[in-house]
Amino acid sequence: MRKQIVAGNWKMNNDLEASKFLVKKIIKKLKNNSLQNTRVIVAPTFVSLEKVVKKAKKTTIEVAAQNMHQAKSGAFTGEISAEMLKSVGVNMVILGHSERREYFCETDETLAEKVSTALKNNMEIIFCFGEVLEDRKSKNHFKVVESQVKNGLFHLEASAWGNIILAYEPVWAIGTGETASPEQAQEMHAFIRKIVADKYNKEVADNVSILYGGSVKPSNAKEIFSKEDVDGGLIGGAALNADDFIELVKSF
Ligand code: PEP
Repeated sequence: MRKQIVAGNWKMNNDLEASKFLVKKIIKKLKNNSLQNTRVIVAPTFVSLEKVVKKAKKTTIEVAAQNMHQAKSGAFTGEISAEMLKSVGVNMVILGHSERREYFCETDETLAEKVSTALKNNMEIIFCFGEVLEDRKSKNHFKVVESQVKNGLFHLEASAWGNIILAYEPVWAIGTGETASPEQAQEMHAFIRKIVADKYNKEVADNVSILYGGSVKPSNAKEIFSKEDVDGGLIGGAALNADDFIELVKSF
């Protein structure tokens, strides 16, 4: 049975002290909750990763990086490699976030390389994709999502999919307050599961968690997470507030 997941992407928010404070608060609030089937993940900035990993040790909270470079090492000023993340205890990375695609020109090709590098380093990947508003208006959203998933991930063997978490994030819903309706999310998630099943098999498709991201908050999470093919959320804004984040974790 696939796990439910709530992952908080802190983006470029929280300095070291604020990161430690936030994760401590989350740990405290989750202490008396036995979340048998829900994984809770936080993704702080690079500078806070090591300390957040330390705080989260011996808890059920997992820590992800927000990005990484595809090369092993070298002249890539400002970049961080998979090995470097592993060296501070980080075993998971978010790849393909729409902000990375848009502001840092990450392409499907680069992302496919990053995916391969992360897997080579035994890292788990939260792979993001999603259409912009024009794609949806022109009814191209299925095509766009299909090509992002294919180009980023379909070079993988079926066995690699145990380390993949998918995150459908319609760009028009990220940080805008506008959420895809539960029906729109379900429709896309079912479509994604179908293209994975067609490429690989039903088992791979049934086992991969597909998160929804885009203005998820305590007031709308329950309804979105209740959909059959929605296995949780990748959360931006609401992940910066411990109370809201915990409410989301309890929204299944
Ligand atoms: C995100 O950036 O992954 C995201 C879903 O942001 P928000 O929840 O703020 O829309």
